[in-house]
Amino acid sequence: MAEIKRRKTSTVQIGQVRAGWEVPVVVQSMTNTDTADVPATIDQVEALALAGSEIVRVTVNNEDAAAAVPRITEGLEKRGIRIPIVGDFHYNGHLLLKKFPEAARALAKYRINPGNVSIGRKDDDNFRTMVECAVENQKPVRIGVNWGSLDQQLLTRMMDENSRRPQPAPAREVMLEAMVVSALDSAAAAGRYGLRPDQIILSAKVSGVRDLIDVYTRLAERCEYALHLGLTEAGMGAKGLIASTAALAPLLLAGIGDTIRVSLTPKPGGDRTEEVLAAQQILQSLGLRSFMPQVTSCPGCGRTTSTYFQELAEQIQTYLRNSMPQWRKKYPGVEQLKLAVMGCVVNGPGESKHANLGISLPGTFEEPKAPVYVDGKLYTTLRGDSIVAEFKQILDHYVETHYNQDSTAQEPAVAR
Ligand code: SF4
Repeated sequence: MAEIKRRKTSTVQIGQVRAGWEVPVVVQSMTNTDTADVPATIDQVEALALAGSEIVRVTVNNEDAAAAVPRITEGLEKRGIRIPIVGDFHYNGHLLLKKFPEAARALAKYRINPGNVSIGRKDDDNFRTMVECAVENQKPVRIGVNWGSLDQQLLTRMMDENSRRPQPAPAREVMLEAMVVSALDSAAAAGRYGLRPDQIILSAKVSGVRDLIDVYTRLAERCEYALHLGLTEAGMGAKGLIASTAALAPLLLAGIGDTIRVSLTPKPGGDRTEEVLAAQQILQSLGLRSFMPQVTSCPGCGRTTSTYFQELAEQIQTYLRNSMPQWRKKYPGVEQLKLAVMGCVVNGPGESKHANLGISLPGTFEEPKAPVYVDGKLYTTLRGDSIVAEFKQILDHYVETHYNQDSTAQEPAVAR
C-alpha cells in the first residue's frame, strides 16, 4: 500500500471543527429531488443518512429551493436526523444567499462552482459575495471545479499562452492545469475575503479516470486544503461503480481525499442510496473504514449443484444490510464482522476459517450438508431445508455474544 502522505479534515466535513491528520474519509451524497419539494427532499435525505451518508448536498438553484432549505433542516431535526446539509450553488448563489439569510444559516456548507459564479463578468464580485456570506455565518465552502463548467476565460487564456510556447503542451495537460489553477486561485481569493484555510475544501471533478487521478495528484502536491473526491458523471451500473472505484482507489491509498462521493446515475425509479453503499464499499474494500460486516462469497462454478449458495449469499447480505441500522447502535464494532458463504468444500472450509463465521454449501456429488465454522473452528454441520434460518440464528447469536457489551451469553444458540 502506498504511504499515506496527507489526509486531514476541516469544518467542511462534518460541520464542526475536527482538526488533525489521518481522520476517516467522509461519505457524501446528493439528493435528486426538487429541493423545493420539502417532504420529498426530507424523505430522501433521511434515507441517505440512514444508509450511512455523513453529508448530504442539495441543489439550491432558485428562490423556491432557497426558501425550502430551513424547512428541510427543521423537518430533519424533528425526525432526529442530524446531518450537515450542503447547498449546491451555481450562477445565482450570490443572490440567493443574500435574499434568504435563513437558508444561509441553516446550511452547513456552501458549494461554489467558480466556473459559473462570475460568468460574463470581469470582476469576482459574485464569488466574493458568497464567500463573505460564508464568513458572516461561519460556514465552510467547497470550491468545486468541474471540467464541464470550467472557467472558460481562464481556459482560453491558458490555451493561448500554451499555443505561443515553442513546444506547446497537449490540450489535455492545459485543461488539467486550468482546473488546478482555477481551484487554487479561487481558494486564494476566498482566503483574501476572510475564509480560514480549514474552512476551504477543494474539488476538481472530471469524468475520465486517468484525468481524475492526475488532477487530484497535482492538487494534493500543491496545496494543504482538504479535498473532496468524486468522478463526475460516473455513469450507470457496473460502469459507474468500476470507473469510480478505479479513479478513487489510487488516490485514497495515497492518502488523498477527505470526503468522497460516488456519482452514479440511478436507473429510473432506482434507489438513490446506492451511491452511499458504493462509497462505503470502496472505503471498506481499501481497509480505510468499516461500515458493515463483509461477506466473502465465491463466484460459483461447475461444481455447484444449483443457485442455492448464490441465494444464501444474497439473503445473508440483505439480512446484514437490513439489520445494520439497529446493530450499529446496539453492537459497537459489529461492522468488522467477516462472513464467508462458499459454494463447495474446495475452498469453503479454508475461506471459512479466515472469517468469523463461514458456511460451505454442498457442491455437485457432495454429501448434502453444510459445515459451519465459527472463529476458525468447525462448529456444526447444517442439513435439510432450514440451513438458511439456522445459519442466521447462529449469526444473530454470534453478534449478540461478541458485540453486545451488556450480554452475558457465551454459547451460540444452535450447537450441534
Ligand atoms: S469454492 Fe467450490 S463452488 Fe466456489 S468457485 Fe471454488 S470450486 Fe467452485
